[in-house]
Amino acid sequence: MTDNFFDIVAARFPADADTSFIELESGRRYSYGDLMEISGRYARLLTGLGVAKGDRVAVQVEKSPEAVFLYLACLRAGAAYLPLNTAYTKAEVGYFLGDAEPKVFVCTPASEAALAETARAAGVGALLTLGGDGDGSLAERAAGLDPAFDTVPCAADDLAAILYTSGTTGRSKGAMLSHRNLSSNAATLHRIWGFRPDDVLLHALPIFHTHGLFVATNCVLMNGSGMLFLPRFDADAVFRLLPRATVMMGVPTFYTRLLADPRLTPAAAAHMRLFISGSAPLLADTHREFRERTGHAILERYGMTETGMLTSNPLDGDRIPGTVGFPLPKVSVRVADEKTGEPVPDGDVGVLEVKGPNVFSGYWRMPEKTAQEIRPGGWFITGDVGRIDARGYVHIIGRAKDLVISGGFNVYPKEVETVIDAIDGVVESAVIGIPHPDFGEAVMAVVLKRPRRAGGTVDEAAVIGACKEQLANFKVPKAVAFVDELPRNAMGKVQKALLRETYKDRFGR
Ligand code: AMP
Repeated sequence: MTDNFFDIVAARFPADADTSFIELESGRRYSYGDLMEISGRYARLLTGLGVAKGDRVAVQVEKSPEAVFLYLACLRAGAAYLPLNTAYTKAEVGYFLGDAEPKVFVCTPASEAALAETARAAGVGALLTLGGDGDGSLAERAAGLDPAFDTVPCAADDLAAILYTSGTTGRSKGAMLSHRNLSSNAATLHRIWGFRPDDVLLHALPIFHTHGLFVATNCVLMNGSGMLFLPRFDADAVFRLLPRATVMMGVPTFYTRLLADPRLTPAAAAHMRLFISGSAPLLADTHREFRERTGHAILERYGMTETGMLTSNPLDGDRIPGTVGFPLPKVSVRVADEKTGEPVPDGDVGVLEVKGPNVFSGYWRMPEKTAQEIRPGGWFITGDVGRIDARGYVHIIGRAKDLVISGGFNVYPKEVETVIDAIDGVVESAVIGIPHPDFGEAVMAVVLKRPRRAGGTVDEAAVIGACKEQLANFKVPKAVAFVDELPRNAMGKVQKALLRETYKDRFGR
């Protein structure tokens, strides 16, 4: 057996090839035998197209079982799997193809005509299509091929995938992930989250992102068990499937949507063993309400595209609302001064730096960026601001680039958000810095309140009043806006850059 991540999981697949791997809402089922055969055919097709070890295969397709088999086929062929967010436009896809120079690009049948020229201009060798129902030229061309395929041996350091970061500032960067990065993280998560042979995972996340692909899918592969696969989060479907599932992984918005539904009861969640949340901060209130409504304490964890998962609340032990738990086994987390990189005193706030077998080797063709973000000793600068409390729990305070500097004073948005979120009638808030003629930046609060009928009578005076009572004056918002919805990306992260842009002229140009 080699260090190819596929070999590692395949060695653990169930002896009975008929064991279910993916089941769709329609009832359609794919077994581990199907996984071996379809990924084998796809791998044969890719190598037939000249894909060799280390070649990139870029993929922008709808979520489907076949898309998972394509991911596995890339691993088997020794290629680097490069999934792209389905929301990316033609221009964005053009950038990724030009940057990564994939040998093969797989898009949907519907976007083939629009992307053919883009792919040709980027020098892509072959363009294939894959539809949401498993249709398209990839499947057609693979159909007659021999499913037996010898997985290409790979070393632990060989490239397994490139995931582009969401790129909220500047160009999106391709994080290079090795077979070791994937296997070390999957083995750890599988163990610490106590996966059992009969676990069934409810999968409603996108699979172009580390959460749905490497956390959720790889845990299932490590476990050799099955998942109920939804194209996207849909509360009706989730309530239908919860009685058959035991584990769900979600972003915080999944949980707030479930909480908004009267069907969320202890009975609805009775079959579940574990609810996990990540990719964006889970409000402490959401954690508490979910526990009151279902008896389940959501297990919150923290990670990034570049590092896989880094910390997790414990399976056995206190899952503390508002914290992301302890560093994972073999993962080191330290809190450092942003400028000097020196570790700060215990308990102080600083930038989180991490090290471990899960941490990526660098950004694709960006050695300078890599050098800026990975210190010579191997510590990767996450850009997340946080602290570690006396019990060892990690708290995330925000992104370093979201820090507001008003009149020369540092304001951590999370501190102000916590005060505002505690006001009766407030659902959630996002605190940002906007240009201000006197202060450089002014603190601004964008607030989502409960509908009036549900007691949402909060106004600007109430927000300012609560902040004045609890915070130093320079942290008190100089502007407050009320919105019906906070803008979020596909992973449920509040898009602060968008809010800063929206309100940038509030105090004049
Ligand atoms: P991505 O690379 O898209 O997975 O985004 C990684 C970023 O998401 C991290 O650097 C954090 O800022 C944020 N993030 C992930 N999980 C959490 C969490 N549990 N709490 C707060 N922020 C999180």
